[in-house]
Amino acid sequence: ESVEGQKMQELRRSLPAYKEKEALLNAISRNQVIVVSGETGCGKTTQLPQYILESEIEAARGAVCSIICTQPRRISAMSVAERVAAERGEKLGDSVGYKVRLEGIKGRDTRLLFCTTGILLRRLLLDRSLQGVTHVIVDEIHERGMNEDFLLIVLKELLPRRPELKLILMSATLNAELFSSYFGGAPMMHIPGFTYPVRSYFLENILEMTGYRLSTYNQIDNYGQEKSWKMQKQTLRKRKTQIASAAEDALGAADLRELNPWTRDSLSCWNPDSIGFNLIENVVCHICKKERPGAILVFMTGWDDINSLKDQLQSHPLLGDPTKVLLLACHGSMDSSEQKLIFNKPEDGIRKIVLATNMAETSITINDVVYVVDCGKAKETSYDALNNTPCLLPAWISKASARQRRGRAGRVQPGECYHLYPRSVYDAFAEYQLPELLRTPLQSLCLQIKSLQLGSISDFLSKALQPPEPLSVQNAIEYLKIIGALDDKENLTVLGRKLSVLPVEPKLGKMLILGAIFNCLDPIMTVVAGLSVRDPFLMPFEKKDLAESAKAQFSGGDNSDHLALLRAYDGWKAAERQQSGAEYCWRNFLSSQTLRAIDSLRKQFYHLLRDCGLVENMEKCNTWSHDQHLIRAIICSGLFPGICSVVNKEKSVSLKTMEDGPVLLYLNSVNAQEPRIPYPWLVFNEKVKVNTVFLRDSTAVSDSVVLLFGGTVS
Ligand code: ADP
Ligand code: MG
Repeated sequence: ESVEGQKMQELRRSLPAYKEKEALLNAISRNQVIVVSGETGCGKTTQLPQYILESEIEAARGAVCSIICTQPRRISAMSVAERVAAERGEKLGDSVGYKVRLEGIKGRDTRLLFCTTGILLRRLLLDRSLQGVTHVIVDEIHERGMNEDFLLIVLKELLPRRPELKLILMSATLNAELFSSYFGGAPMMHIPGFTYPVRSYFLENILEMTGYRLSTYNQIDNYGQEKSWKMQKQTLRKRKTQIASAAEDALGAADLRELNPWTRDSLSCWNPDSIGFNLIENVVCHICKKERPGAILVFMTGWDDINSLKDQLQSHPLLGDPTKVLLLACHGSMDSSEQKLIFNKPEDGIRKIVLATNMAETSITINDVVYVVDCGKAKETSYDALNNTPCLLPAWISKASARQRRGRAGRVQPGECYHLYPRSVYDAFAEYQLPELLRTPLQSLCLQIKSLQLGSISDFLSKALQPPEPLSVQNAIEYLKIIGALDDKENLTVLGRKLSVLPVEPKLGKMLILGAIFNCLDPIMTVVAGLSVRDPFLMPFEKKDLAESAKAQFSGGDNSDHLALLRAYDGWKAAERQQSGAEYCWRNFLSSQTLRAIDSLRKQFYHLLRDCGLVENMEKCNTWSHDQHLIRAIICSGLFPGICSVVNKEKSVSLKTMEDGPVLLYLNSVNAQEPRIPYPWLVFNEKVKVNTVFLRDSTAVSDSVVLLFGGTVS
């Protein structure tokens, strides 16, 4: 065994989970279901599945056991599998493998499979009793994702039919009772852990300590939207979540008399609706000047604010100096080389700063963190039951999350945590986050319930840990009826059955099916694949202008991000045939990794559509592939009612949706560059709320297209 390998084994034995190994294995053998909780980093994810595998091998059941461990995110399924294989001194695909959508490494002898929750649900579609599976481990259940909650209902129904199947639920925080009682009082096992004390500072302390002054001007300046500020604040206030308004009340009622007068003034300028980049820069700088080494972990809300902040910090004299600071990002779409850097200790004298999403809250443990900066928010999908459009917006985190974030600072030595909001706001946080099932559109889920033949949708969902609102369930059912996926009696129609086979949301599935029916399949497959993978257009901040004009050149005055994507993809395919794909990507600021993912998803779509009889031959189904009007119309039919009106002003374009009033376009949208848009409407796929509502990826459409392919707009 190599030195590296021995070190890893030593590390394994030093984890808190190791001491509980026998007790855990005992509990598993004596019970069908157990709930395991323990501090993040104690070894649940990487160790427990291995303990089971090892004990099965010892009991001479190694050849017949099949352990599935689900992860809420694809990136964790992949990185955990890689880590576990390395700990076992094996290659991925030997006894340990992984499977996520479009990718996987799994061999004939693979006995422990890490996969996303979605993959296990798809498997249940084909094999309702999970034949051959001996253990199911559902990880990170405390996150309460929609897929995980759904999976728990399905497994609960399955257990009596598979008495020998073992179910292990794993969670970081201590609300294990909830899950235990859901499974009829399943035993709870806790892995005791040790963390060093962490000192907390709230906004008022930070202001006093750093001397930084907040002003209303500063906050507006961050986003340069002074004019529309007032109006946005009003719209935001109207739609504010319960937590946020409670937070505001608490702030008003807080006893601030003990503070410096100027801190009090400064605090009254604090804007709860925005994330102050200047404040973060100031705090990070304050920490960097400290003697004590240790990495800084900054919790942000998502890819976009992480990138904007990174851009801002990079131009700072101290934070942008690579001889002193190593600035890294940690989010769901980072690449694997960047991921490795996150775990590595930097050279002496260099301060590591990781800007992360709430992924670093529980699924990833960075061992050398000593300082945590917590912006207090996380991006959440939320949902207007009335217009069926999902919306990603930053929302206040829960007390449980804030505690979890703070805990990240005390892994190796006593730490410090800087919460960028007043103490009184923390006091108003909810105890736990609202489960996703209660705040997202349920169309895909309802379709899945039907195709898994789980009976009445409402009855089934009423068996959830926390059942969703009847109005949301009703809306989803209505939507599925309108698009013709369900009939009047809530039975799956032929279309519904076909939609449930396609691994995309119903609205995107509908576009694919229309593309096939109208013989315009090729471009629609590209558009749908692009929408469900991610944007292939890169926007490096140092070269923003070049990147924007590279994208604009693909739009050709069509006023459509979707058509731009289509042309970029087609151009890349042509370049690939000439062996110049890489150069093409480099020249046009495109991600070849994303384009390849789009390419393989397209192939998958084609096979699936052929298997369900929607496509007979590749030539015929593309007779109308060059018809731009038709492509636009099919895009509209899928994205509707995600629509906003266009009014051309003298020098700018003003956009409005029915629910939000004025909205803005993401700067990388081709429509954001246009001085006027010669169409009355834009359809869009997604709204993101940063400080105001932004639309991502839009296509301009005419009145008649909206009437024929969308619906009525008032
Ligand atoms: P838990 O699931 O209980 O949060 P994990 O099993 O994920 O804990 O992690 C246990 C330990 O292994 C942690 O100290 C973590 O830092 C370390 N670890 C996990 N993955 C990696 C990796 N890819 N590289 C280096 N260390 C890792
Ligand atoms: Mg874990």
